[in-house]
Amino acid sequence: MFGIYAPGTDVARVAFFALYALQHRGQESAGIATSDGVSAAIHKDMGLVAQVFTEDDLSKLEGHLAVGQTRYSTTGSSHLRNAQPYLIETMHGPLGVGHNGNLTNAPQLRNQLLERGVGLTSSTDSEVITQMLAAPAPGTGNGLPDWEARIGNFMAEAEGAYSLVVLTRDAVFGVRDPHGFRPLCIGRLEDGGYVVASESCALGTVGASFVREVEPGEIIRLDKEGMHSVPGPVAPEPALCVFEYVYFARPDSVFEGQTIHRVRQRLGEVLAAEAPADADLVVGVPDSATPAAIGYAIASGIPYTEGLIKNRYIGRTFIMPGQQERRKSVRQKLNAIDLEFKDKNVLLVDDSIVRGTTSQQIIQMARDAGARKVYFASAAPPVRYPNVYGIDMPAASELIANSRSVDEIQELIGADKLIYQDLHGLIRSVRHDNSSISDFDTSCFSGEYVTGDVTDDYLDALEAKRNDAAKQRLRARQRKDSGDTGETTNVIAL
Ligand code: AMP
Repeated sequence: MFGIYAPGTDVARVAFFALYALQHRGQESAGIATSDGVSAAIHKDMGLVAQVFTEDDLSKLEGHLAVGQTRYSTTGSSHLRNAQPYLIETMHGPLGVGHNGNLTNAPQLRNQLLERGVGLTSSTDSEVITQMLAAPAPGTGNGLPDWEARIGNFMAEAEGAYSLVVLTRDAVFGVRDPHGFRPLCIGRLEDGGYVVASESCALGTVGASFVREVEPGEIIRLDKEGMHSVPGPVAPEPALCVFEYVYFARPDSVFEGQTIHRVRQRLGEVLAAEAPADADLVVGVPDSATPAAIGYAIASGIPYTEGLIKNRYIGRTFIMPGQQERRKSVRQKLNAIDLEFKDKNVLLVDDSIVRGTTSQQIIQMARDAGARKVYFASAAPPVRYPNVYGIDMPAASELIANSRSVDEIQELIGADKLIYQDLHGLIRSVRHDNSSISDFDTSCFSGEYVTGDVTDDYLDALEAKRNDAAKQRLRARQRKDSGDTGETTNVIAL
């Protein structure tokens, strides 16, 4: 997610390069909306950033304000109508919204909008946010173009995870929910102007210097006056999603003063101290587990080697919708160098085990390559619970660790020994350099959800929705195989 206010700059091009740097955060669709203070333009489509935008598309995106987003679906389905940003016309000019996260009270907010006569065209909570900003409830400043107040009113109603970029006629806003589940930072451009980005790795790419992170609960306004902060409600328990550290963020990004790469390396070091393995070699599962594998190797003294090679041109396995595609793509993505494995006892290190698809296949690959014993380490604790704050892993039944012991998982994935980080080790690794940094959302490991609305009923409904989405995807695939694209059918799963 990215936002920019920079008169005299080709903001669409800057947004394009920033989204390119943030591609890892979403691979289904990409979009940029711009405004010149009078009118607005948007271009979005399914696919990777480089596939979505041509020179011609960028040249049509005029203006000095822009917001952009790369999306992957968590609750809404993978379809163009759900692509972001949303851009609509309001009484007070254009309104563009990019959202990273997941509102846990989206169904209630959705119903409130529908009851007020506001129509919705997609199944996403992001459209709900857009309409809540465009059409605030009566008595909450409906007639005023006071976007800060509207955003504040939205924040008072919303539960769950949301980092937002908002484009209006003359300002760009960056917003972080009171818990700060998802990251957002501010950068300053050399030639004047400001940007907000999900991760600091995008700042260097566009020649911006890091100013600071948007605080949990804070609204940042970027306009002709520069940068302005509106402190908002802050939750008693700040809760940056710890999975950002484990897997999601790019290793060169910095959160709360900590470089992700360093944290991941420490995860490996801590694991080596707590769970030694009698291996000849440590092999990381590229790319996200490489730092943890290096950390394990350094701390244990076991040599590290790159025994698995990744095809850099294939997308993130997990983000591919559909288990069948996921299974195929592990093989397409990774290949073993036989010589490295032959007759060795190997410790494979991955950042996490979610469904177990990857680990099972990689272990088999290592055996096929001639390994004698294959040990497997997860730098994160067992993922036992759904993530409801914006990471795509909501259905408990899909998680290999949900109702299994470590021994059972070990057997299922076919490892000679399975090692998991414990939660304490994870927290210690993240907090190491700065013990005063905030608490984390660890719900997918601990089952403790900091927003009270995540009840068993909520989780059951989410599981049902996911199963429905999987069926829809299957039907769409069958239609595609039979030559019917079904593009004219817009099913909105409520
Ligand atoms: P799985 O095969 O389902 O166990 O997935 C585990 C692999 O997916 C690990 O190698 C991780 O690097 C990666 N992964 C973990 N969580 C996610 C996520 N939420 N989105 C995308 N990839 C993930």
